[in-house]
Order: sequence, then C-alpha cells, then structure tokens
Amino acid sequence: MNITDNFYSLATPGVQRLVPYTPGKPIEELERELGLSDIVKLASNENPLGPSPMALAAIHASLPDLARYPDGNGFKLKRALAEKFSVEMSQITLGNGSNEILELLARAFLTPTHEVIFSQHAFAVYPIVTQAVGATGVVIPARAYGHDLDAMLAAVNDKTRLVFIANPNNPTGTLLASDELRRFIAALPSHVLCVLDEAYYEFIDPKSRADSIAWLVDHPNLIVTRTFSKAYGLAGLRVGYSFSNPGIADFLNRVRQPFNNNMLALAAAEAALADHEHLQRTIAINNDGMQQLIDGFRQLGLEWIPSAGNFVSVDVKRSGEGVYQALLQKGVIVRPVANYEMPDYLRISIGTPAENSRCLEALQAALADV
Ligand SMILES: *Cc1c(COP(=O)(O)O)cnc(C)c1O
Repeated sequence: MNITDNFYSLATPGVQRLVPYTPGKPIEELERELGLSDIVKLASNENPLGPSPMALAAIHASLPDLARYPDGNGFKLKRALAEKFSVEMSQITLGNGSNEILELLARAFLTPTHEVIFSQHAFAVYPIVTQAVGATGVVIPARAYGHDLDAMLAAVNDKTRLVFIANPNNPTGTLLASDELRRFIAALPSHVLCVLDEAYYEFIDPKSRADSIAWLVDHPNLIVTRTFSKAYGLAGLRVGYSFSNPGIADFLNRVRQPFNNNMLALAAAEAALADHEHLQRTIAINNDGMQQLIDGFRQLGLEWIPSAGNFVSVDVKRSGEGVYQALLQKGVIVRPVANYEMPDYLRISIGTPAENSRCLEALQAALADV
C-alpha cells in the first residue's frame, strides 16, 4: 500500500484540494542559497523601521514571567483597544495574527453546505480557510483589480454565509470608496457575515478611511479585522484582533485555543498601541517611500496599481517570476504574484529610502536581463 496515497484519501475533500500559502522568501534562506549578505527584503509588507522601542521594553519586562501561562482573555490588550477605538471589550477577539481570526470565523460559521464570496486577486488566506472547512469559495472577477461590489452582491444566495473583503486589498492595494462599501454592507441579508479585513488601515489616507467601527452599531453581521503585523511592526509576534457584535465574539471565543496569544505578544502589542510617535514615523516613511518607488517606476517606463497600503504592485511587462528570480540574484527579495492571477506583476513592499533605492537599481538591471 502506498502510504502517501492512503493519507491523501484520508484527508477531507477540502484539504485534498488545498494549495498551501506561499510566504515571502526569508532573508536567511537567500543568504544560505547565494552566500550573500546585505539582502533587502521587500516581500512581506513588514515595517522597515522595526518594532516600537516601547514594545521591545515591554517584552523585556515580561521575560521573568515566562514560566506562567499568559492571560487567556488578553484583558489588558483588550482594554487598551477598547479605549482607543471606543468599543466594548466584549466586542473584541484577539488572534494569533489576524489570520487566526479569519480561520476562527470559518470554523465557527461555515459548514460544507455554505458558500463564501471573495474577489479575484484577493488575499490568499480567504480560499484557504474556506476550503479547509469544506465550504465552497465563490470567486468574483475583479473590476480594475479591485472588488466588484455589485457583482459580489449579485452572487449572494441562500447558501452564502460569509463575504471576505480586504480594504485595501493585498496584493493589489486597491481601496473601496467608503460610501460604496457601506451601501454594500447594508444591502447584505442578515444571514451573511461580512468580514472587512483592514490589515493596512493605518496606512490609508485619513480622508479616505471608512469609519468601519462606527458601522458595527447598525450592522451586527459586520466583523472588522486588524493587525499588529503591518504598521505596528510586530509581524513576528503574531497579534491580530477583530471588532464585532459581542454575539459573534462569543462564538469565536468558544473555538479558539485557550492561550492563542503568547505573553510577550500581548505585552508588546499593548505597548505598541500607545507608541503614537512610532506609528506616525511609520506612516511618514511609507508615504515618502511610496512616492520614491512610483517615481522610479515612471522613470523605468513601468505602470503600477495605485495602492493605499505599504506595498505596490508593478506591471513589469514580462514574466514576474523571471524578474523576481533576477532580483534574487542581486540580493533583493520581492513578491511574485502569479498565484494571484497577476503573472506580469511584482508586489514590492515599501522599505527605507536606501532599501527602495537598492530595489529600483536592481529592478532596472533585472529588466535589462530578462
Ligand atoms: C498581512 C495581512 C493580514 C494579516 O496578517 P497577520 O499577520 O496574520 O495579522 C490579513 N489580511 C491581509 C489582507 C494581509 O495582507
């Protein structure tokens, strides 16, 4: 008997068809492969300034307590979030990254009879969590690389249980107009949960931000997810959160692991939330870096998708995979997005001015080679 085949038949049908998530290439891996040092990684939308010094101090202060279990209710972090965003603590769910919240939603609310709607080019975790529980993903073709809300609404039927919307979307960076988004949420029937993934919320120009938390009052089927991985610079610690109706938070709380956020992560996230200066510096370096990259693209004769996040997808007008490989040889890691049905694009995270320059120089050379 072939053991591999046997395990295949033992896996659930949804899991059999799963394609694993492809993360950005780790710096250490490229160092090992090429014997290079001084590698620039602009592949995972991480904060180029690193974590807040206040978060590092909070981690240090927590170290002597590591023999204890963390607070399984995350009281202090929830209290800080509730104060900052004017919500009740009972509306907050903490996750091991906001990815975990997406998974908890799938486990709490989806069965194999349900359909889940998301857009073409949308974040790769949506199909994964949907398929893992045997539900059916319904992919709606994008409009100008963004969500086509009319088409998504038209796809809703009795079997629809959940809709995922990333705003801005990763990897396209497209942002929905706040009033259109609100109209969409208001038009959803009450048996459909709307998951609004705002992983890049802090980077959105304040004039264009949706007041999504205020919408929770009128729309009990809305769940807003955010994260400490991007603007707060704590991707390695894995902390995300959601705001929702307390009834939804109650069910997420039932399916999660009792200690899903570790002690250092809870302490660091609470401290990071209070470090306004670090956040403002992060936003400023991102705005400058975005301009630097798009000026560079323009000089190279390339087009890009205008982005509201801390990354930008650029049309390299040839195989993105080929240019990606050529950039790797020059010690620059970016993200090919062929798996998002964007084979001619590369997604580039905004780095420091020096990292952005290195990337643009390498890109110019790579385009000449490929
Ligand atoms: C990065 C990202 C997330 C969350 O990542 P976590 O590290 O798990 O918090 C969620 N949604 C989108 C669209 C992202 O790009």
